[in-house]
Amino acid sequence: MILQQTVSKEIQFSGQAIQNGKEVTMTVYPQPAGSGIIFSRSDLAGKPRVRAKAENVVSTKKSVTLGRDGWKIATIEHLMAVFHGLGIDNALVEVDGDELPSGDGSALVFAEQILEAGITTQELPRKMIHIKEPLWVEGTVFSGELPLNAMLLALPSDHLEVSFVFTSDHPVTGNQFYNFKFSTERFLKEIAPARTIAFMREVEYLRSQGLARNTDLNIAVLVGDEGYENELRFPEEIVRHKILDILGDLYLAGPIVAHLVAFRSGHTLDLEMAKKITQLQNKQEG
Ligand SMILES: [Zn+2]
Repeated sequence: MILQQTVSKEIQFSGQAIQNGKEVTMTVYPQPAGSGIIFSRSDLAGKPRVRAKAENVVSTKKSVTLGRDGWKIATIEHLMAVFHGLGIDNALVEVDGDELPSGDGSALVFAEQILEAGITTQELPRKMIHIKEPLWVEGTVFSGELPLNAMLLALPSDHLEVSFVFTSDHPVTGNQFYNFKFSTERFLKEIAPARTIAFMREVEYLRSQGLARNTDLNIAVLVGDEGYENELRFPEEIVRHKILDILGDLYLAGPIVAHLVAFRSGHTLDLEMAKKITQLQNKQEG
C-alpha cells in the first residue's frame, strides 16, 4: 500500500510569471490526508480556493488555468508535475496574483525546494488510477497555419510510462522522441530540468497578446531560425518538457498507472484525457 504524502513545512517561491511577467509570490502549505491539491488567491478578499481538478480548468491557451467565479490562476502545470513526480497528494498553494512564478521555466526549482523542505507520509492510502482498457483522445494542433493531427493514448500497464512524439518542420528542432519510465529519481534527472520551448519568430507576437512577457529568456529553449539561441540541457529537451506537461496535466485526474503514448499532444488534449479518466473513475466509484 502506498500512503498519501504532503510537504513537511511551508515553502515559498517568488519570481516573475512566465506569461504575464508580473512579480508574484507563492506559498505551498502542508494539508491533511484526503485534502487533495488546492490553489488559492491570497491577494483577493476571503482568499478564494479552487481544487486542482480537470473540471475547474478554464483555459488551456499556452498554459493551464484554473478558475471560478471570474478569478483565475494560470500556469499551474509545472508545479502539478512536481506534485505528480514527487508523489505529493495534499497541499495548499497560495499565490498573490493570477499566475504562478516561472521558476527557471522547468520544474527543477520547485522540486528542489520541496525536497529540501521534506515530504511527510500520511495515514491514508493513495488512490492510484489504474487504466484497465485503452483510452484515447484526438485533436488538431497548429504548426503556424497548418493543422496537424494529435493524439493521446492511455494503455493498461503495471507502471507509469510516457512515450512522446514531437514533430516539427522547423529545421532546428526537427522531430523528437522520448520514452520515460516513471520513478521519482528518473523524474528528477530526466524530466524536471527540461524547459519549455519558445520560437523566436513567435515571441514578438505572443508578447503583443500579453503572453511570454517574462524578461528572462533563459526560462525557455529558444529556437532561432539558424539554431538554438541558448544552451540546451538535453539534446531532446523540448520533447522531455512535453512529458513534464503531460505529467502535470494528467495529475488533474490523479496519480495514474498507465502507458501514455502521445503524438503532438498539448494542454488541450491532455485536459480532455484528464476529464475522460476522471469520468471513468467517477463511474467506477459511483
Ligand atoms: Zn510546460
